Amino acid sequence: MNLLDYLPVVPDFPKPGIMFRDISPLLANAAAFKEATHQLAQISQDLEFTHLLGIESRGFIFGAALANELSKPLILARKPNKLPLDVHQESYGLEYGTDLLEMQKTILPTDAKVLLIDDVLATGGTLLASAKLVEKSGATVAGAITLLEISFLAGMQKLANQGVVAKSVLQ
Ligand code: AMP
Repeated sequence: MNLLDYLPVVPDFPKPGIMFRDISPLLANAAAFKEATHQLAQISQDLEFTHLLGIESRGFIFGAALANELSKPLILARKPNKLPLDVHQESYGLEYGTDLLEMQKTILPTDAKVLLIDDVLATGGTLLASAKLVEKSGATVAGAITLLEISFLAGMQKLANQGVVAKSVLQ
């Protein structure tokens, strides 16, 4: 099975010039979603981590599936004003705009080694902001994984420059 067949490109969505990768067909096919989860588990194998951090909103889907597959705890990095209690906050630049991410201040133990997970790595801004949230908690970033990397945007290099090892199932 070629997972890329289930991730069609939608040109000019949500803005002109963006080649959007739609994960909906992959999720709508049980075998493809299962295979994507298996392959995410495989690329996470040589990274030592205690927790997964899923990034809103498509990172929640793959983060939840992988957390269940690996029996690891799942932490949420959410858009602003969604989480109760005190939060750490980081702003980040997207391929199409800017936004904020928040994580609860006391949800991660300081000895946690956290693997960040999202659907797509584009410029790397989202994963970098998530890494900073983990560091603000006093925990350690174990790495970052995505289903797909849009390689020409060089997000992986941007993360490597900040000491974050990133891997993706597909390019
Ligand atoms: P970035 O911060 O630039 O690495 O962007 C990654 C985040 O934006 C992920 O949460 C993706 O879901 C989303 N994203 C950015 N570019 C695309 C794209 N071309 N297709 C699908 N999702 C994208």
